Amino acid sequence: MDELVALCKRRGFIFQSNEIYGGLQGLYDYGPLGVELKNNLKQSWWSSMVYDRDDVEGLDASILTHPDVLRFSGHEDTFTDPLVDCKKCKSRWRLDQITDSSCPSCGSADLTDPRPFNLMFKTTVGPVDDGSNFAYLRPETAQQIFINFKNVIDSTSRSLPFGIAQIGKAFRNEITPRNFIFRVREFEQMELEFFVLPGTDDDWHKKWVDSRLKWWTDQGIKANKIKLLNITGDDLAHYSKSTVDIMYEFPHGLEELEGIANRTDFDLGSHSKNQDDLGLTSNTLKNNASNTKLAIQDIENKKLIVPYVIEPSAGVDRGVLAILNEAFNVEKLGDGKERIVLSFKPHLAPIKAAVIPLKKNNEDLVNKATSLKNILQGLRLGRVVVENTGNIGKNYRKHDEIGTPICITIDFDTLEKDIVTIRDRDTMKQEKLELSKVADYFRNFLLS
Ligand code: ATP
Repeated sequence: MDELVALCKRRGFIFQSNEIYGGLQGLYDYGPLGVELKNNLKQSWWSSMVYDRDDVEGLDASILTHPDVLRFSGHEDTFTDPLVDCKKCKSRWRLDQITDSSCPSCGSADLTDPRPFNLMFKTTVGPVDDGSNFAYLRPETAQQIFINFKNVIDSTSRSLPFGIAQIGKAFRNEITPRNFIFRVREFEQMELEFFVLPGTDDDWHKKWVDSRLKWWTDQGIKANKIKLLNITGDDLAHYSKSTVDIMYEFPHGLEELEGIANRTDFDLGSHSKNQDDLGLTSNTLKNNASNTKLAIQDIENKKLIVPYVIEPSAGVDRGVLAILNEAFNVEKLGDGKERIVLSFKPHLAPIKAAVIPLKKNNEDLVNKATSLKNILQGLRLGRVVVENTGNIGKNYRKHDEIGTPICITIDFDTLEKDIVTIRDRDTMKQEKLELSKVADYFRNFLLS
């Protein structure tokens, strides 16, 4: 992990947030390359969830959330971690981090009794801060999808089964943020709420677990680094009938990358008014605050029903960490040297190609390189850069380290004969290619 964290800072993937003022724990900023990687991962998720299917719509809802939403979702009462303080060294721990009744930091057994700690951030809305005008920063993106259910079906005429996808920030006041971007206080989620006819939910749950596993391996995560964990008993969330966690071998151990839950009719039911005639099966929270019924007409018998929902919920930041970890390699080279390489799948690479003039500031070479860059950039397949630093070897090493799949060198052969040299990041093989064929080569390389 240390090597990865150092590379992320050195090359501009991820920085400690608010660093010049001492930093804020559990917050990170994505730098010039990090933002590209993160956007590419989100784009890949969005394409597979929304564009590649015919049964999913998108949403981008607000982060600030009415307290009633999180009251009727159960978060106000249940979104807590039991917390223990060490009276000797004053450190604070989640109960599940205390293994032998002693403080993990100083070893003292002088600990407080566990106390519940709500993980939600609150903020004042409007000019008067009297404690009553507040909203929560959403702890998951899901609730905003549930409360928009009626808006989406009314505006799209969807019938079951169908889903609503959303990518966005979520906030949790984690007691002990740790392991780089694995457990942070501000993060992004990619969540799909897939609404199905009750009775078909178990089948859909299985289908979604398979589909999500395949997607992660398509992003370059090796199948043997992933395990499925069936959550049972007290570990199941209050809304869930069954949950399968996709666990990944992070540098610090096997932990959750994504959870796929069968949330039944709990959420839509809990946010609905006059629930008694809705035939709900789960133990929903009685709601007198909402004026809406979050239900849909069953096509067969024309009755109003509350669908069950299957929720694949993935963390963007945990995804980025997993992908960086998979891509990171230190390779021994024949001459006793080594190279660091990030072997990203091309669609995730922050920079798709670097065009490198052989000599720094040579006008003819730089102009030729810039015009090729503009052609490749115009294909809209991702970021392409010109490297006007004149040191080919150094540029190859840099682009290996940031995961650029191809480097294209512009030399005097290019000026005289319109021939470029293309170098492949993974094989390090170099081949000559006619300039006029580079755009097709680049397109095929990225789209195959
Ligand atoms: P954990 O048990 O690790 O705290 P969780 O079960 O509370 O996670 P969910 O509520 O299922 O997590 O959230 C869905 C996804 O959101 C998780 O699989 C994870 O990828 C991501 N996530 C949750 N909490 C955090 C966090 N504090 N930092 C980064 N990502 C998170």
